[in-house]
Amino acid sequence: MNLDDGVEVLKGIGPKTAEILRKHGIKTVKDFLYNLPRDYENYEAPTSIAEMRPGKVVIRGKIEEVKTRPSRKRNLTVTEGIIRDKSGAVKVVWFNQRYREKQLSPEKEYCFSGNFEFRNGRYSLVSPSCAEATDVNLRSGLNPIYVAHGALKSNDFRRFMNNSRAIFNSVPDLFPMIKSGTRKSALFLAHFPNSEKSIKEARKYLAYEELFELILASKLNRRENEKLKAVPIPFNLEKVKEFLEKLPFTLTGAQKRAAWEIFQNMERDVPMNRLLQGDVGSGKTMVAALASYGAILAGHQVTLLAPTAILASQHYEGISKLLASFGIKVALLTGATKKKAELKTKIRNGEIDMVIGTHALLTDDTEFKDLALVVIDEQHRFGVEQRQKLVLKSPPGLAPHLLAMTATPIPRSLQLTVFGDLDVSILNELPRGRQPITTTILKEIEIREKLYPKIQATLGAKNQIYWICKAIDDDPRTETTSVKSRWMKLKNDFPKAKIEFLHGRMKPAEKDEIMERFSRGETQILVSTTVVEVGVDVPNATLIAIENAESYGLAQIHQLRGRVGRGTVASECYLLTAGEISPSRRLRELEKSSDGFYLAEVDLKLRGPGEIYGVLQHGALDLRIASLSDTELIHRAQKDVERFLKEPENMLKYRELMEGITKYQQITTLN
Ligand code: ADP
Ligand code: MG
Repeated sequence: MNLDDGVEVLKGIGPKTAEILRKHGIKTVKDFLYNLPRDYENYEAPTSIAEMRPGKVVIRGKIEEVKTRPSRKRNLTVTEGIIRDKSGAVKVVWFNQRYREKQLSPEKEYCFSGNFEFRNGRYSLVSPSCAEATDVNLRSGLNPIYVAHGALKSNDFRRFMNNSRAIFNSVPDLFPMIKSGTRKSALFLAHFPNSEKSIKEARKYLAYEELFELILASKLNRRENEKLKAVPIPFNLEKVKEFLEKLPFTLTGAQKRAAWEIFQNMERDVPMNRLLQGDVGSGKTMVAALASYGAILAGHQVTLLAPTAILASQHYEGISKLLASFGIKVALLTGATKKKAELKTKIRNGEIDMVIGTHALLTDDTEFKDLALVVIDEQHRFGVEQRQKLVLKSPPGLAPHLLAMTATPIPRSLQLTVFGDLDVSILNELPRGRQPITTTILKEIEIREKLYPKIQATLGAKNQIYWICKAIDDDPRTETTSVKSRWMKLKNDFPKAKIEFLHGRMKPAEKDEIMERFSRGETQILVSTTVVEVGVDVPNATLIAIENAESYGLAQIHQLRGRVGRGTVASECYLLTAGEISPSRRLRELEKSSDGFYLAEVDLKLRGPGEIYGVLQHGALDLRIASLSDTELIHRAQKDVERFLKEPENMLKYRELMEGITKYQQITTLN
C-alpha cells in the first residue's frame, strides 16, 4: 500500500463511498489517514442510569423506540428514544438529527455521552454523542469524533479506521529530523488513543510536521524568488525629495522607513516580494504612490490592483492627483471603463505610466510595454492565479517587483511560518491629528434609547454615518435585521436625513454611484453590508454601527471600524449584539484596544489560525492542527528545516515531503 493510492484500495470502501470522500477532498490513503478526529469523546467509566445526576454523563445501554417528529418551532425535528440499562431507563432527545433513527439498532449496545438536563417538565439526556460499545472497547474508552462529510457520519469514519488498522504499519517517515517510526505511531494514536496523554503527544508531532512543511515551503519560495530576474530601479533621492516637498503633509516616521526599505529593495535585480502591513488609515496608499513614482521616474510602468471598483477609483483619484503635477499619466481600468480597447492600446504603447484597476485588468489583452512594479491592495482578496497573471505581464524573462498591501495585521508567529519568504514593512504609526475611535457594545434593544441620540448629534454636526448589516434581505429563519429593513426603519425614524443602502448584489456602476454620493456628502447615512469594508475613505464619516457584531471575526470588525476616524473629528463605533447573552471576550477586546496587531494576536489565541488564514488568503489554507501559536515548536521546526536544507540530497530522498509542500508554496508565495 502506498500513501498516494486512491481511497478505494482501503478495506470496506467501495466506489460510492470513495466518490463521497473524494468530493470532500479525501482522495488518497494519505488524505484518509490525515483526516484527524475533530475531538474525542471519553466513554470511560459509564454510570448506571439509576445513579445519573444532572450535568455531563456517560452511560451504556440499549436504545429503543427511536422516532422523529416535527417540533413546534419551524425547521426543527426532534428525534426521541428510550435508553435502558440494568438499573433503569432514561429518555433521550436529539434535534435535527433524524439519521439517528437509522443509525441506532435496538439489538446493539451503545455508549452515550451528553448532558442530563431538565427540559419540558422532565429530565432527559440531550443530544448525546454515541458509539457502539464493542467499538469503544477497542479503544480504551476514548472515542474519536470525526467531522461528518455528506452522508458519511463520524461513526462511518470510525468504522473505516477500524478496518484500516493494518495500514498504519506501512506509513514511512516524512523527514530525517525525527526519530524513525514517530510518524506512524502519532497517526495511529491520533485515531486510536490509549490515553489523554497519547492524544497530546500525537497532536504535538503532527503539529510539528505541519510547521516543518510550512516553513520549508516558505524557505524554498524565497530561494526560487532569488533565482528570478527583475529590472533594477535606481533610487533618485533628489526627485523623491522634490516630490515629498509638494505634499500637503509630512510622512510619518513609519512611512519614511517603509519607503526607504522599498526603494532599497527595488534597486536589486531580484524581484522585490514585500508585504506592506499597516492598520487602516496608516497611509499605505501614500507609500505605494511613492514607490510607483520611483519606478515611473526610471522609465517603467506600474500597475495597482484593487479588489473592488470603488477602491480602484478611490486610489485612482488620490494617486492621479498626486502624480499629475509631475506629468505622469495615470489611467483607471475597471469593468465599467468605456473605450477599453483604446486605453489598452495606450498601455501597450507605453503612453500610460500607471494603470489602476480591478480584475478587469487581468485579461490577456491588457499588455504592458514595460511593467516593472505591481502593487496589490488587500492582497488576500486575490487568488494565486490572479496574482500570477499580473506577474506574467512583465517583459519576457523578467518578473516585476511586487508590493502587496494589507490592513489585516499578521501575527508574528504566522509571519515566521507562512509568510517567512516575504519581506515585511510595517506602518505602526498613524498620521498626526488622527482622532481616536471610541467603541461601545450595545444590545439591539438599546438602539433607540442609546444610539439614536448619537445619530441625531452626528447628523446635527453634518457628519456621516455607516450602518453595517449582515444580510441583504430579510430571512424568516433568522432574526438578523437586513440592509433593506434597517434602511426602512431609519428612514422612518430620521425622515429628514438622506439615507441610502448598498450591497454586493447591486451592479458595479450603481454601487459606485451610491458610494460617490456618500463620499461627496450628499448622503448622510449609508446602510450597507460589508462591501464597504476595504479601504474606502470618507473622512467626514464619524459614526459606524455594526449589527450582529458577534458574527464577524475580530480582524473584520477592526477593518470595518477603520471606516471612521479618518478625519479630524473624534469618531464612534457601536457594536450591536442580538439577544441577551453577554458580549464575548472578542468584542470586549475591541472595546479596549484599537491596535490591529494586538487584536490579531488575540484573534489567533481565541479562534485559532483558521480564522486568520481565512481572512488573509483566498482558498483558505486548511490547517489540521491549531499550532501556530506554539512559538517553541515553531523555533524547533525552523532549526530543523535549516538543517534539512543543508543537505541537498534530502530534497531528492524525501519525495513525499517535497510533493506535499507544493500546496503550501502556492499559497504562501506572492510572485
Ligand atoms: P490606508 O490605505 O493605510 O488605510 P491611506 O493611504 O488611504 O491609508 O491614508 C488615509 C488618509 O490619510 C488619506 O486621506 C491620506 O491622504 C492621508 N495621509 C497619508 N499619509 C499621511 C501623513 N503622513 N500625514 C497626514 N495624512 C496622511
Ligand atoms: Mg487603503
